[in-house]
Amino acid sequence: MKALHVLGPAPLYTNTFLLLGENGHAVAVDPAASAEQYLDLLQKNKAELTDILLTHGHYDHVGAVEELKRRTGARIHLSKEDMGGSRLFPLTEADAGYEDGETIAVDDMTFTVIRTPGHTAGSVCLLCGDLLFAGDTLFAGDIGRTDLEGSRPDLMRASLQKLCGAVTSDAQVLPGHDRFSTMDAEKAENPYLRF
Ligand SMILES: [Zn+2]
Repeated sequence: MKALHVLGPAPLYTNTFLLLGENGHAVAVDPAASAEQYLDLLQKNKAELTDILLTHGHYDHVGAVEELKRRTGARIHLSKEDMGGSRLFPLTEADAGYEDGETIAVDDMTFTVIRTPGHTAGSVCLLCGDLLFAGDTLFAGDIGRTDLEGSRPDLMRASLQKLCGAVTSDAQVLPGHDRFSTMDAEKAENPYLRF
């Protein structure tokens, strides 16, 4: 990877990312800021957006998806469980869903999909090298809400346990909101990761 950009501001202070590969291809994770921010960076770096990876379908994570799709043709990845056409789940279409454990390779970057239903039924965490894009599953010192429409509180605990097993302690945690952390710190201090 050539660079990781954290963009924003986005509604509800969603953390949103643009990853630039070494060979001119780029990936947006949860493009929630204005589409122009991604397009400007892509243009400056002469990079092509090929894939949009969504950790889940909530409205505060997907604001720029449709415009970026129109302007770049990038493939949208989203679990089918998180498509709704509702205010909470605005998107109705994607080019690909997610299989647990599958890898998505773009340029010199490889993302491993960890399905983590709980916050939403279709939530995933994405591991790229030592970067964990945790969406609204795991926050620094906290976890995502499980009292929303489509939440699966019964599955959240199992998903967190699975995440701890799948991600090594040296990984950086880049959640969907609020500050960044490390897996090491979360395993030590996050009260929701005591099993
Ligand atoms: Zn959410």
